[in-house]
Amino acid sequence: MSKHKEDVLKAVRDNNINFVRLQFTDIFGIPKNVEIPAGRLQSVLEKGIAFDGSSIEGFMRISESDMYLRPDPMTFAIYPWTMDLGNGRTARIICDVLLPNGQPFPGDPRYVLKRAQSEVEKLGYSMYAGAEAEFFLFLRTPDGRASLELHDRGSYFDLTPLDRGEAARADIVVALEQMGFEIEAAHHEVAPSQHEIDFRYADVLRTADNIVTFRFVVKTIAMQHGLHATFMPKPVAGINGSGMHTHISLWRGSENAFYDPKAPYGLSEVARQFLAGIIEHIGAITALANPLVNSYKRLVPGYEAPVNISWARINRSALIRVPASNTPETSTRIELRSPDPSCNPYLAYAAILVSGLDGIKRKLTPPDPVEENIYELTREEREERGIGALPGSLDEALAALRRDKVVTAALGEHIVEKYLEAKEKELQEYRLAVTPWEIERYLEDY
Ligand code: GLU
Ligand code: MG
Repeated sequence: MSKHKEDVLKAVRDNNINFVRLQFTDIFGIPKNVEIPAGRLQSVLEKGIAFDGSSIEGFMRISESDMYLRPDPMTFAIYPWTMDLGNGRTARIICDVLLPNGQPFPGDPRYVLKRAQSEVEKLGYSMYAGAEAEFFLFLRTPDGRASLELHDRGSYFDLTPLDRGEAARADIVVALEQMGFEIEAAHHEVAPSQHEIDFRYADVLRTADNIVTFRFVVKTIAMQHGLHATFMPKPVAGINGSGMHTHISLWRGSENAFYDPKAPYGLSEVARQFLAGIIEHIGAITALANPLVNSYKRLVPGYEAPVNISWARINRSALIRVPASNTPETSTRIELRSPDPSCNPYLAYAAILVSGLDGIKRKLTPPDPVEENIYELTREEREERGIGALPGSLDEALAALRRDKVVTAALGEHIVEKYLEAKEKELQEYRLAVTPWEIERYLEDY
């Protein structure tokens, strides 16, 4: 048994763990789990555990539903909020999903990201990612349901008196730290009741794991405070939505391969090619990084979310920003501002990775940076300068995904088919809905 597995078993003994949740995600990045008594863990670590995957979104048909979970011991963490129950605690381990023959299951999003990671490793690089997930905290109704009731009127970096939202955010930070997160910053965001908590960047697989954990912890602790946390991209019209800006760098061993002190913006040739690859495939990336009908209500002018396909140093209306840094040797990176926190991070990051990699392989050159506020350019000015637009709807994004050979190949046939099928259904439901806006706008006039 490996050292990591031994460590997990020791942690289970030392911390009075009674139950272990074996976790994975469906194709939408929604966490699923099966719980086992701690006594079974040794055998599960060695042999995995069979489960019926037929009811998991995007998994198998009934006839071929037997699958296995194989825990990744590196992801073991104890749920801090199970501390005081007196009857033992609960821990979780993130698992890989396998077919009965021991091969990886092609519908497992975590596997898709691992496969993309092995592609970049073949070229001698590792990809690092850091995510800034924003979220809203809304009040719950007395009977416990989520509402759209804001808990405060605070704004960016405000020091509000310790209201329920601030108290919840403080407890979220503590819980995340107890689960091994290194928290870099936590602050009130621009919109009322909107918050952001930033945790330290890591290799892209760990960051994707962390995002899934992060969303779960935020929701759990918020609920304990009588609040509902949502990662829905645009819950309230007329104020900022929630993004999940993602900072990306490639490393070769202990060297940041994105840094070149002699190049403009300190961005190495590899960095510029990676950036160009993202721009080349941004349509397909958007289908994964902005997966909901609602995602496209965030990607509109005027709310600090990107709309156009451009890059820049300081310009926050750009799709990709190159943040300034006083330690460029280590922290040179690009910041992709389009993803939102409703995405499946495994699939979105796999798409970003293979797109950047395609840019490197084909030695693509990015367009010139645009430092003006793009929201203020006229359509003619944008056209003259060749500044394209992000997909304006889920429909458009899915069409771009369908056309994109690089991204669809990275996702694999199984995921592409299941993802498109589910998203088409979602779009169809949306088309059939008659919204309150339509009633208000048309009922009396027509
Ligand atoms: N909430 C904004 C968005 O939708 C981002 C605000 C910020 O710059 O952090 O992307
Ligand atoms: Mg932010």
